[in-house]
This record gives sequence, structure tokens and C-alpha cells, in this order.
Amino acid sequence: MDAIPIHDIFVIGGGINGCGIARDAVGRGFSVYLAEMNDLASGTSSGSTKLIHGGLRYLEFYEFRLVREALMEREVLWKNAPHIIWPMRFVLPYAKGLRPAWLIRLGLFLYDHIGGRKLLPATKTLDMASDPAGKPLKPLFRKAFEYSDGWVNDARLVALNARDAADRGAVIRTRTKVVSARRDGSTWTIKVQNVLTGETEEVRARLLVNAAGPWVDHVLSAAVGQNEVHNVRLVQGSHIVVAKKFDDPRAYFFQNKDGRIIFAIPYEEEFTLIGTTDRDYPGDPHDVKISDTEIDYLCAAASEYFAQPVKRSDIVWTYSAVRPLYDDGASKAQEATRDYVLKADGGEGVAPLVNAFGGKITTFRRLAESMLEKIEGFLGKRGKPWTHDAPLPGGDFPATGFDAQVARLKSAYPFLDQRLARRLTRLYGTRAQKLLGLAKSNADLGRNFGADLFEAEVRYLVDNEWAVTAEDVLWRRTKRGLHFSREQAAALEEFMRGLSNRHVAAAE
Ligand SMILES: Cc1cc2nc3c(=O)[nH]c(=O)nc-3n(C[C@H](O)[C@H](O)[C@H](O)COP(=O)(O)OP(=O)(O)OC[C@H]3O[C@@H](n4cnc5c(N)ncnc54)[C@H](O)[C@@H]3O)c2cc1C
Repeated sequence: MDAIPIHDIFVIGGGINGCGIARDAVGRGFSVYLAEMNDLASGTSSGSTKLIHGGLRYLEFYEFRLVREALMEREVLWKNAPHIIWPMRFVLPYAKGLRPAWLIRLGLFLYDHIGGRKLLPATKTLDMASDPAGKPLKPLFRKAFEYSDGWVNDARLVALNARDAADRGAVIRTRTKVVSARRDGSTWTIKVQNVLTGETEEVRARLLVNAAGPWVDHVLSAAVGQNEVHNVRLVQGSHIVVAKKFDDPRAYFFQNKDGRIIFAIPYEEEFTLIGTTDRDYPGDPHDVKISDTEIDYLCAAASEYFAQPVKRSDIVWTYSAVRPLYDDGASKAQEATRDYVLKADGGEGVAPLVNAFGGKITTFRRLAESMLEKIEGFLGKRGKPWTHDAPLPGGDFPATGFDAQVARLKSAYPFLDQRLARRLTRLYGTRAQKLLGLAKSNADLGRNFGADLFEAEVRYLVDNEWAVTAEDVLWRRTKRGLHFSREQAAALEEFMRGLSNRHVAAAE
């Protein structure tokens, strides 16, 4: 037993919260081990609407603390990761019979003023007869409000947090499931299983963080052995992706007659992302899948606004995820709080456990800071909060300097066409140079698996970002899956099978 090294902190879950906590903790000097049972961001953190937003709608539920904190994070996160996060303007058409204009104006006034906005432009009113935003919509929408929020590549935000944590010394293990966690006095002994090989191993730590998202209660009952656990409410949200409905770079915020809202957002250059739904989910989070009712709901809700209706046959992809909302006893799924709650037990000779319930992608960095306060309460202070001004890997260029960064990449690698240079900068920022290495032509990038996904990129993702399967690459590290045929995906899978054994050691 003594031969097993003791880590300060063991984190369960490689979603945005687990990876954000691991990064913050290791940066303060704690030794950290993180286990993710599947791929990074394979849970809820790749299935979000991908907004860095205050959450205009949450104002209706008086969530002022959450909205203010989230609004403040918009510019902080944009500056830390300007490759994968950028500002987006949202057009909210005024619809007769729904929320009155004064209420929307009041909400947007608060939005503009409580959130420390410095770079993002303020709200304005649009005349939809003359503004291009009115063009794809039915002519009955004559007036709209336009406001600022942000966009994030959610799955990459997770991978970059993990990369940074590993660069600073954290152990990040994917395909590694926590099967049990036992207190031996003031330390934890955690049994992990490699889900690919079935091998198990014991790891010891002073403190356990449960950031298992929708599985947070399951971890408590199945691995930690607690009874009667009910902390989170699982709420499903689904999205559809259709060929692009409009050319404008702005997104739409549509109010529905049932009091809910949906977004229609420009997505991956050629598509429009529409979502989300909001309904209680009784099943296993692994099996979550869009239902026919949700597809009909999203098509009908968007068709209330677009002049050209959204039809089932327009759908090219769908995805679905489960929100692990802290159960505050709200009667409707959409009214349950989106705020996070941290709960700890242990201390004084009993190894501490801290659980993270709820939260948003937008507030992950603040959740991690609050978690570190709790951790330091048990393990003692190590370092100051530091992530506010620390760029994520590849994000070390000015927030407004994306186009200049693309130009820099193109001048270093003149053979890249504009589209590929933009795509690589969007995904990897300044680390695109590392990926491209000494390449002098497309041929030097190796095999093209399709849609300009070259071998060099696949190898980079395997060696640096824990990618193991074609799905990891096509749907989480990139969204090349939208452009791949089944045969191309199978060829990539076969290629990766030859590489994946190498990866686990290489990524650290
Ligand atoms: C439809 C939808 C839309 C959303 N839109 C937004 C949005 O636009 N903006 C925003 O800010 N937020 C949004 N959110 C919220 C946000 O996505 C979530 O709050 C966030 O992703 C939760 O992250 P997490 O790390 O807690 O959970 P997860 O990402 O689910 O991570 C938990 C991880 O734990 C792992 N795990 C579980 N059990 C074990 C075990 N025993 N051993 C090892 N690993 C384990 C899982 O595999 C999983 O990867 C949305 C959520 C949904 C569902």
C-alpha cells in the first residue's frame, strides 16, 4: 500500500468542470490525478448550445448572481481563448402576444449594465424591414433587439483545459473509470479501471472531487457507497443541425408560445444549429438521443420565424445531452436552477470529498475557483487564483487578433489555402504551428482522410489531446464528421486503431 504515491487531489470526470478544476489546482501547486471513463467531453460538455452567455432567460427566474457572474466571464474567457471563443450578436425578434417589449428592454438593460462589458458592443433596436437580419424571417416580425453574447467550441474548451493541466504536471487518464473509492482514514484509495483493457489499478489521494456531471449521484451511490442520493435533476436538451438558413453572422433568439426559447446559430460555416429542448430525463445519460417529439418541436418552433420552414428532411445531424442540474425542487425542467452548488464532507481525519452539482460551461472557471477555495479549506493554501489572465493552449494572441493570427499562419505556411488556415487557427490557435511542424506542402501533411483532415492533424490530436477513436476526432476535437462519408470515417478509424496504443503515454 505504501508504495502507491499519494496525490493531493483525485478528480472524477473529464468534462469542463473536472478539467477546469484539475487545471486550476495543478497551477496552484497541488498534485492532481484526473480520471475520465470515456473520452474528454464525451458527456454533457460536447452537447451544449455552445454559448458563453449570461443567460437572458434566467433573469426571469431571478438568477441575478448567476447571470452577473456569467456575463463577467464572457470577456475573460474570450481573452483567454480567442481561437475557440468569440463574440456573437443575437437578434431577438419582438413577437406580438409574447413577452412585452418593455420587459425585453429591461432584461437587456440589465444585461448591458451588470456584466462588466468593456469590449462587447451594447444592445440596439433593429428595424427588420431594412436590416438584413429581417430577410430570412417572416415579414410579420418588424422589430427586433440585438445584443451581445459569446460562442465557444465546448469540446475543445475541455481538451485545452486538460492539455494545460497536463502541461503543468497533472495526470490525465481517459478511458479510465472510477469503480470504487474508499476512505482509509485521511486518504482515499480509488480503484480505476482501464475500460479498453479491463485492467484495474489503485490510486491514493488526500481529497476526492466528484465532477461526474450527470453521473455525479451514480458515483456517490455506486463508487463511494452512499445511500439515498438525489442531488441532481437530469434534464435532456437536444439540437438539430440543418444546411444554413441564413448568411448573416448573427444568431437568432426565438421565443416560443410555450414560454421557452430556442436559438438558431450560424454553425461550422455551412450550417445552422437549432436548439434546445428542455425535458426531464429518466434514463441512463449514456443513452440520451433526440426523440421524434423533440425534432418536431424544434422544426415547428423555428418555422414560426423563418420564412422557409425547417423540415425534417433538412436535418443533417442531431445531438443530445443531459443537464445535471442541482435539484432545487422546481416544478418544471426549464425552471430548475442553472447555478452550481458545491457540497463537501469529511475533514479531521476523514478524507474529504467535494461534489460539484450543476453549472454552465460559461461559469466553469469560477466554479473551479470556488472548488479550490473548498479544497484549500481542507488541504491548506497553496497559491492564488491565477486563471483569470492565463491563456489556454493556443490562445496566446490578442482577443481581437484572430484574422491577424490566420495571416501569420499563412505567411509561415504559404501552401495552406485560406480555408484550411482559418480552420486550423480556429481549432489550435498558435499551436497550429506545432501541428504543421516543418511541412512545406499539403503532401508533407500526410494522408488526407477527407474534408482536409490530414494525417498530421490526426497524429497531433492523438499525441497531444488524448484522441483515441475516429469519433473523438470527427465529433469532438473537430467537427469534420459533418463532412465525412461513412467510408471515410471507417478508414480513419482503421488508421487510428494502429496508433491508439501509443497515445496514452504520449499525451502526458
Ligand atoms: C442541451 C444543453 C445545452 C447547454 N447549453 C449551454 C450553453 O450554451 N452554455 C453554457 O454555458 N452551458 C450550457 N449547458 C450546460 C453545460 O453543458 C454543462 O453544465 C456542463 O457541460 C457540465 O459539465 P460537467 O463537467 O459537469 O459534466 P460532463 O461534461 O458530463 O462531464 C462529466 C464526466 O464525468 C465522466 N464520468 C462519470 N462517471 C465517471 C466515473 N465513474 N469514472 C470516470 N469518469 C466518469 C463522464 O464520462 C463525463 O465525461 C448546456 C447543457 C445542455 C445539456
